[in-house]
Amino acid sequence: MSAYNPPTQTGGATSHTQPTISVSDTARSVEYTCGDCDAAVSLKRGEPIRCRSCGHRVLYKQRTNRMVQFEAR
Ligand SMILES: [Zn+2]
Repeated sequence: MSAYNPPTQTGGATSHTQPTISVSDTARSVEYTCGDCDAAVSLKRGEPIRCRSCGHRVLYKQRTNRMVQFEAR
C-alpha cells in the first residue's frame, strides 16, 4: 500500500470538448400513437417517424391528433 498517491490529473480542466447540441431542440420529445398497433411512441426531433413495436410508419400526434405520415421512399 502506497502512502502517497499522486493524482493522475491535476486540476479539473477537462480538455475534451463536447459537441454543443441545441438542447432546446433535441431534448423535446413528442408523443405519438401508432396508427397500427396503438402503441405510444415518443420521438425526439430528427428521429424517424416509426413505431418501435411494429415498425409502422403512420403515427398520430397525441397532442394535435393530426396524422403524420412518412411514406416509404
Ligand atoms: Zn405500431
